[in-house]
Amino acid sequence: MIKQKLKQEVAQAAVMLWKKGLSIGRDAGDTSFRDPKDQLIYICPRPTEKLIIKNWGITKAEHIVVINPKGEVVDGGDILPTLEAPMHLSIYKARPEINAIVHTHPVWSTVFAITGKNIPLIDAEMDAFLGGEVVCAEYAEVGTEELGQNVVAALGTTKFAALIRNHGAVCIGTDFDNAFNTSNFLEKSAQTVVFGTLMGGVIAHDKLEYTPKRFRNA
Ligand SMILES: [Zn+2]
Repeated sequence: MIKQKLKQEVAQAAVMLWKKGLSIGRDAGDTSFRDPKDQLIYICPRPTEKLIIKNWGITKAEHIVVINPKGEVVDGGDILPTLEAPMHLSIYKARPEINAIVHTHPVWSTVFAITGKNIPLIDAEMDAFLGGEVVCAEYAEVGTEELGQNVVAALGTTKFAALIRNHGAVCIGTDFDNAFNTSNFLEKSAQTVVFGTLMGGVIAHDKLEYTPKRFRNA
């Protein structure tokens, strides 16, 4: 069953991308949500000449497309799903416990994505909210199945964020609140590691346990 409330949530998350500066124009980045009841995926549209969306700041529920796990449109009329739908589908298939994806093009994380570097584990927040070190996925072309597989490999079974090489980042969670929380900590981690490196180098760890587990994403 198509749920208007979920279309609104995905549209609001897209607007949030714009407001937070995680998508600086056009259709950079996107958001989606999987209904745990019937596995249908509510996802950002693909802007076209017919559907002009100058930035995600104007996204409305009526723009949101609903697809099934095979990627077939089940609700959306002439509107196509975002070009990055294959990546969203691959992540949902690999991580059944998560239901929200926020794909971002943020400045500080992209510094790592364009240099092909992982963000090392430097504080307990990264352990709690990102799942430890953030891995930079192998390069693949935008919108391809290969890109989805490379991102799935970078996320593994326990991480909540990954860098997309020469492109951006992806954050996942049980809901949008968790996915955006992850995104906030991802940008903070990237920024602090850049400055720490300029100050002579960061002290990276293999493990930095975060005690209050109730704050974890999933
Ligand atoms: Zn992108």
